[in-house]
This record gives sequence, C-alpha cells and structure tokens, in this order.
Amino acid sequence: MAILYAAEADEAAQWRQSLLSLDPGLDIRDWPDWGAADDIDFVIVGGRAPGDLSIFPRLKAIQSTWAGVNHLLRSSGLPPDVPIARMVDRGLTESMSEFIVYHVMDELRGGPALRAAQRERRWLETTPRFPRDLTVGILGLGTLGGDAAAKLATIGFHVRGWSRTQKDVPDGVDLFVGAAALPNFCADLDVVVCLLPLTAETENILCADLFRHCRMGALLVNAARGAHLNEADLLAALADGRIGRAVLDVFRTEPLPDEHPFWRHPAITISPHVAAITRAGTGAEDILANFRRAMAGEKLRNEVDRDKGY
Ligand code: NDP
Repeated sequence: MAILYAAEADEAAQWRQSLLSLDPGLDIRDWPDWGAADDIDFVIVGGRAPGDLSIFPRLKAIQSTWAGVNHLLRSSGLPPDVPIARMVDRGLTESMSEFIVYHVMDELRGGPALRAAQRERRWLETTPRFPRDLTVGILGLGTLGGDAAAKLATIGFHVRGWSRTQKDVPDGVDLFVGAAALPNFCADLDVVVCLLPLTAETENILCADLFRHCRMGALLVNAARGAHLNEADLLAALADGRIGRAVLDVFRTEPLPDEHPFWRHPAITISPHVAAITRAGTGAEDILANFRRAMAGEKLRNEVDRDKGY
C-alpha cells in the first residue's frame, strides 16, 4: 500500500511532511526510486506525468496536485483505466477568490487611474462607485469560480456565472448554461473573469467575438490558462477601447518571454501564474482522503472525466 510521490521534486519534502502529519503510518516513496513496482498503489503527480505510469501493475489511482489537468491528460504514459483526481484544496480556493476579489475591487475603486495620477502628482478626485454599479461575469462556475462568485455577490456586485451544465448557484448569482447562453451572459459585462478548465471547447474563448458583447472598456481577468486567450484579439480590443484593461496571470508560454508585447502594455497587469497555488498543508487532506478511497475501492473525490477534459 505505497504512495509514490512523482510531482514537483522541490515540493517533495513539504508533501511528505504534510501527509505524514495526518497519518504517520503512510509508506511514501519518491520518483524515480520507488523500489518494487508492484508496491505502488497510488501516484501523486504535478501538472504532468513524469514518465510511464503503466509500469505499476497495482496502480489504483492517480492524484494531481494541480487543479487544472489539461497538461496531465496530454502526458504519455497515463494508463487508460486508472482514475485520475484533480486537486481541490481549500487553500487554493481561498487564494483564487482573494485574487479575483482584489482585482475587481481595484477596478471598482479606480486603482489604476489613482496610481497613474500619483505618479504625476495629480490630485484626481473621483466619486467612488458602489459594487452594485458593476456586473461581473465568471466563465466557469466550478470549485474556484463558484467560490469567487459567492464572495463577489456578498460584497454586492451583480454576478453572473457561466457553466456547461445546470447547477445550484450561490445566492445573488445569475446562472447562464451552455454555449447558446454565452452572448447573453456577456452582454454589458463590466468585468469578465475566466476560471474555466482548458479543453477543446474552451480554448481561445477569450476572443473578439466574446469581447464585443461586453461593456465598452470592460476589465478582463484571466486566471485560468493562457490558451483561453486569443492574444492578438486582446491587443486589438485594448487598442480600440473595447477592453479597457486586462489582468493576466496565465500565458501560452510561461515564463512570459522577454520580448512579449504584454510586458510593456500600459493596460495589462501581469502576475506570474501565482493567483492560487496548492498548499501541501491543506492539500494533503484531500490527497489522503482520495488515497483511502482508492484503497477501499471507492470512487475518488474530484475525479476527472477524461472525455470532458476536466
Ligand atoms: P472545476 O472543474 O471545478 O470547474 C470548471 C467549471 O467550468 C465548471 O463550472 C464547468 O461547468 C465549467 N465549464 C467547463 N467547460 C465548459 C464549457 N465548455 N462551457 C461552459 N462551462 C464550462 O474547475 P476549478 O474551478 O477547480 O478550476 C478551474 C481552472 O482554474 C482550472 O482548470 C485551472 O486551469 C485554473 N487554475 C488556475 C490557477 C492559477 O493560479 N492561475 C490555479 C488553479 C486553477 P460544469 O459545472 O457544468 O461542469
């Protein structure tokens, strides 16, 4: 009943310590010194599989420390019938909601204009708007989008959420379901936030066609994956004022190359894929719960549907 840790090597000690603090009896091995292949029942991976996982004949489950599994699902060496779980960690969810609320509040309070005025020693008197004056749309109303939506609605923003299927939504959130509802979801949005998984359906979703439905000068926040965004369309939308400002945490190439025009664009705020990070301290609880489920032959929590891609 051994667990093989095959995620980011620099985090191995933290994960080992967090898992052992919850259950000191765990047998945790490290990639690539796992001992006998048939000892391994459960593998913890990061964003990608580090090698061929089909060599473990008793493997019952694969657990990612990442919430997004788009890279993992494209890794070679994933045994086709072993269930995969993605990470749901309350630390990750809290951090993502903070990131979204922080940038939406900055927009509400005119932060960029005030900072620009200060740099010029200009006394810029503005009348603050109320949260109820802004409509925020969240693409992806899952673990992360649902929590951010609930927190924004509590503050008083008008909040819309877009999902693939019908679901219960937090109080104060209007739900829009499926591709046909996307134009209505986007209509006159002041802020559009992307918290979708990257799949064939969602790639390039942040494009001219979506931007044209939003309110002129809307704020775009992409904290999901770089490939959700059509970069040329964003630059064009910023040039004509259709999008007023963009906050980007994720990019097609990470780290963002030196020569990329986003670095120097005055209307783009960049953060280096740090909106939310899985913490071993809280994430270990989710992993241990799934290890126990796998050992008991039960369905994993947060199991990935390989056909849907998330
Ligand atoms: P979930 O799987 O919990 O939620 C995904 C949501 O997207 C669901 O509401 C789902 O709809 C919706 N969705 C998926 N496909 C479509 C579609 N084609 N049309 C409409 N809605 C769709 O994921 P999480 O909330 O945990 O994570 C979301 C993403 O955030 C991750 O995949 C990852 O890429 C990104 N992320 C970024 C981080 C960062 O630091 N920048 C950190 C962690 C995650 P339904 O509910 O109907 O299935």
